[in-house]
Amino acid sequence: MKNVAILGSTGSIGRQALDVVRAHPDRFALYGISAHSSEAAFLAQIQAEHPRTAVFSRPFASPVPGVDTGWGDQALYDLAADPQVDVVVLAISGIAALLPLLSALKAGKRVAIANKESLVCGGDLVKEALRQGGGELLPVDSEQSAIFQCLENGRREEVEKLILTASGGPFFRRPREELRGITPAEAVKHPTWSMGRKISLDSATLMNKGLEVMEAARLFDFPGERIDVLIHPQSVVHSMVQYRDGTVMANLSNADMRLPIQYAMTWPDRIPSPASSLKLWEHPDLSFFKPDMARFPALQMAYDCLQAGGGCPVVYNGANERAAELFFAGKLGFLQIEESVAYALDRFENRPVKSLEDILAADGEARRLADEFQSTRSLA
Ligand code: NAD
Ligand code: MG
Repeated sequence: MKNVAILGSTGSIGRQALDVVRAHPDRFALYGISAHSSEAAFLAQIQAEHPRTAVFSRPFASPVPGVDTGWGDQALYDLAADPQVDVVVLAISGIAALLPLLSALKAGKRVAIANKESLVCGGDLVKEALRQGGGELLPVDSEQSAIFQCLENGRREEVEKLILTASGGPFFRRPREELRGITPAEAVKHPTWSMGRKISLDSATLMNKGLEVMEAARLFDFPGERIDVLIHPQSVVHSMVQYRDGTVMANLSNADMRLPIQYAMTWPDRIPSPASSLKLWEHPDLSFFKPDMARFPALQMAYDCLQAGGGCPVVYNGANERAAELFFAGKLGFLQIEESVAYALDRFENRPVKSLEDILAADGEARRLADEFQSTRSLA
């Protein structure tokens, strides 16, 4: 029996992780949940699931007796490192997941990680925490889970490259000039996945795929030159690994995040899941296209950041997080999101980022630069 803590339990991934826990009462017990917003949904989860511990960003009263309650950052780090917890599902969005991640890894937990921003920004600190605590880091992001599974079929030295698939987002076929006036409601309507609003927006701008190229580089220790992206609008092939004899191993399934969430929790075991099986004959039109880098500057910038190293990945992420907030607040246009990131990267004096302080300083600078960009532009 494994005790599970779901950090970010009210979100899209968090709710699906709860489904997985519920589907396997013989394997998993819900030990703790945490959330930051939607207090009503959080209280409803406590009422329905009776976790042992519940942590919120602000003080709150548990609707059921006997639940240990905590609030604030330290309580979140403590839950991530709680000696009773075996598996931490990291479903918080944004760089806010970095400290809970380090806390869980230093305590030797298995972390089923959905959050990509913490991997992109954390760099060597994540590796060091993993080594120090002797824990495990298992990917949940569908592309990284696919690559992880494809890599199980061969030896590392036999691998030529990793091939990430991308749906292309809702505007894949729209000319760039038409994208200027895209509204938040249009931007978060993803064609194949239902997700939280920030990652849905990132999928529309292709910033998500840029983050995933960096995430794959971190997780699997591959250079950018050996990570390709292919546009695959149907989201059936979740990613691939090309081996040196030319063979490509691919991972296919219905687009249901409960599959990669569950595999990260049960690995190396593969057990029945709440997701439905793929009926490949229902998808006669699987297609693949090479991305046009000129059309998707967000992707090109990610490769450039990987190449440049240092604080660039942190700045890419931080400027994007801030620009996304400004876009949702109606203060920035859709194409201005990638322009904010380019602006921040242009002005950031790259330097090594080694410590947590370095990372947070680069993140703060990126956000300030994104604000500066916004204050000097009119909405377009
Ligand atoms: P979401 O916005 O639906 O949920 C985020 C959760 O994190 C919520 O419970 C929220 O209360 C909590 N949270 C937000 N800010 C926080 C903070 N500052 N401190 C503590 N908790 C905070 O997001 P999501 O779509 O579930 O995505 C979560 C992460 O998983 C993201 O990093 C995303 O990129 C990644 N991911 C999501 C999907 C998906 O299908 N949704 C797929 C792959 C990867
Ligand atoms: Mg993904």
